[in-house]
Amino acid sequence: MACIKRVLVAGGAGFLGSHLCELLLDRGHDVICLDNFFTSQKTNVEHLLARPNFELIRHDVTVPIALEVDEIYNLACPAAPGHYQYNPIKTMKTSLLGAINLLTLARECRATILQASTSEVYGNPEVHPQREDYRGAVNAIGPRACYDEGKRAAETLFMDFSRMYGVKIRIARIFNTYGPRMHPYDGRVVSNFIRQALAGEPITIFGDGSQTRSFCYYSDLVDGLVRLMENDSDFSGPVNIGNPDEFTILELGKLVYKTLGQKENFVYKSLPADDPCRRQPDIKLAHEKLGWEPKISLHEGLAKTIEWFKQIKVEDFRAPTPNY
Ligand code: NAD
Ligand code: UDP
Repeated sequence: MACIKRVLVAGGAGFLGSHLCELLLDRGHDVICLDNFFTSQKTNVEHLLARPNFELIRHDVTVPIALEVDEIYNLACPAAPGHYQYNPIKTMKTSLLGAINLLTLARECRATILQASTSEVYGNPEVHPQREDYRGAVNAIGPRACYDEGKRAAETLFMDFSRMYGVKIRIARIFNTYGPRMHPYDGRVVSNFIRQALAGEPITIFGDGSQTRSFCYYSDLVDGLVRLMENDSDFSGPVNIGNPDEFTILELGKLVYKTLGQKENFVYKSLPADDPCRRQPDIKLAHEKLGWEPKISLHEGLAKTIEWFKQIKVEDFRAPTPNY
């Protein structure tokens, strides 16, 4: 049996964090979920509260914390454009101070620490698909920069804590991931399209819908994170974790209507500034180093996600910001 670890999941009440907590608990670990609930709510982890190996702490990662842990997953950061642009200075602080505080904790505890980085470090990419050695094309002064540059600087801090202090690090570059427990008002494309279609509202296509994304189902993603954290060869990344099946945004909208058996009803709005035109991960490195590849197709994952959205009451969810 694998050794039981004390694991801190920062941002653990969020969409991905809550699924990660669940997977780690199922693997027998002691899990501390830390969150300030900026973009999530306790209902995401309510079903875990009674488990003896689960603890929940309300805390902001921009403030240091003392804990004794063996592993740290840093997922604490608003992830949807509307959320991270609501208070961009706080977003940058969360990435930078959060990384510094959690890396310092990892150093003190000799814990291994994983950073949930992002495909946004590639910006609006000039190479396609994106490999880990591509250095990216990010606009340092645009509306997405608080997130993109914050995540890039966090990667730098991870590398420097590793080089200066020998902290054991992992860096996962996550591509668009979706599934149950996405906040229905986060404004991200999958949650928006499903919520709109279920409410009988038109689906909002930004631009002409020809921009692409590659969508990964949450279960594949958290499996990739745990493989990266636990790999025996101490492979630290950065490594892309995402599903390489690429779709235009219009294709995604059509698929939502097809899955629901509804007639298409699109309304076109202007494309936000710096919105990347194409995005697709090259996942050869994850396959070679971690034996990882996604298993769930967009058709399958979308159907499961739609089922979850049908069961929830969207009015129970507080919109975290007016920017959804
Ligand atoms: P999410 O918004 O559901 O989760 C983020 C969590 O972090 C929330 O629970 C939020 O309340 C918490 N948080 C935010 N600021 C915090 C702070 N200062 N202190 C403590 N907690 C804080 O988003 P998600 O999709 O689950 O994303 C999780 C992580 O994965 C993020 O770091 C995000 O950047 C990264 N990521 C996600 C995707 C994706 O497609 N889902 C893609 C790339 C990277
Ligand atoms: N998008 C859209 N309609 C929406 C929400 C998003 O057309 O209601 C587009 C958005 O412009 C982007 C893509 O869908 O091109 C993915 O947006 P999301 O916010 O989910 O994530 P991003 O990958 O841009 O961070």
